[in-house]
Amino acid sequence: MKQFTKSFTQQESIPESGIDAAVAVMRTGRLHRYNTLPDEKSETDLLEIEFAEYMGVPFALACSSGGYALHIAMRAAGVEPGEKVLCNAFTLAPVPGAIHNSGAIPVLVDVAEDYCIDLDDLDAKAAASGAKYFMLSHMRGHLADMDRIMEICERYGLFLIEDCAHTMGASWNGVKSGTYGDIACFSTQTYKHINSGEGGFLTTHHPDMMARAIMHSGSYMLYERHFAAPAKETFADIRFDTPNYSGRMDNLRAAILRPQLADLEKQCNRWNARYRILEQAFNQCAAINIPARPAAEHFVASSIQFSLPQFSTEQILKVVEQCGHQGVVLKWFGDADPKDYTSRYDSWRYIEELPQLPKTEKILSKLLDMRIPLTFSEDDCQLIGEVINEVVTAVQG
Ligand SMILES: *Cc1c(COP(=O)(O)O)cnc(C)c1O
Repeated sequence: MKQFTKSFTQQESIPESGIDAAVAVMRTGRLHRYNTLPDEKSETDLLEIEFAEYMGVPFALACSSGGYALHIAMRAAGVEPGEKVLCNAFTLAPVPGAIHNSGAIPVLVDVAEDYCIDLDDLDAKAAASGAKYFMLSHMRGHLADMDRIMEICERYGLFLIEDCAHTMGASWNGVKSGTYGDIACFSTQTYKHINSGEGGFLTTHHPDMMARAIMHSGSYMLYERHFAAPAKETFADIRFDTPNYSGRMDNLRAAILRPQLADLEKQCNRWNARYRILEQAFNQCAAINIPARPAAEHFVASSIQFSLPQFSTEQILKVVEQCGHQGVVLKWFGDADPKDYTSRYDSWRYIEELPQLPKTEKILSKLLDMRIPLTFSEDDCQLIGEVINEVVTAVQG
């Protein structure tokens, strides 16, 4: 019996240059982002400048988490309590949580067979709900057809917030994920593409929205100390009208993120090389369905998803269990009982008028998920592919 022994939650270490930079910050004692010497730019300032440059956008704000960025994106966009916000039914809990945190009501949209948001259901729910906002989660790094998304947004006048927690470094037709929408949010939490434990970014090209986001993030009246930010005149009234919801990035975390951002493209290629090995293995097993990725999609595969369309729930649970015995940790998104980081939409019982989504439930009931940490070698991925194929074939009987 093949056995895999590495940890699925072990990330790579922080680059030495990041560790050195973090130690240097600690030696100064100036960990707070606004604790600077005259004319000094803090690590957080530099990180924001570099991230805005990387994304090719005018404005970037670093903050305390991805979920926090999503929340203040709602606020900066001017969402009113009780308003409806379209979002994926297949996403992570911080997405409906951020909508709820702004007082708005999530309108859940089905998942499609390719694990992206279902564009027909999006169209129908945009029409039926009258929602003016859409928080699109590029869940597990799957980019929906962005041309069609933008066409739907234009047709209904939807304000688009992109949740790019899994698409930092990804693009559609050469256009970066996060530059399609009005606002984009990113996470730098440990299991995303750059790792500061906790952290996030908000980017936008709207000056007034960035001014509000900066005020919300807890800038006090220090907004002039932001460099990937709009001119100070933009803040003239906004500084009086915008509550402080403290959620800043600090210099220690910024220091360890900067070298990782510089390395991001290289890391993305390493993830995808691992993904292609697993994908190729899965394509050799008739019981496994792994949707082909569109040519327009340049993804970043920090995880992999696949389905066992013909398997019963009992068989799926057996696959998860047996793979677990052989050291391969799979997560099942179809579980009615939320576990670990997976929770099905119907476990978010705080949502008003929580719908039943039989299509989503059916797709999720067959869907498995696996992390691909970069501490796995390409040979490791080969072995993992073999383990999964063997288990699936055995369980199929
Ligand atoms: C991780 C994640 C978030 C939120 O990020 P945190 O930094 O953990 O708050 C949002 N959306 C998705 C899809 C995520 O995976």
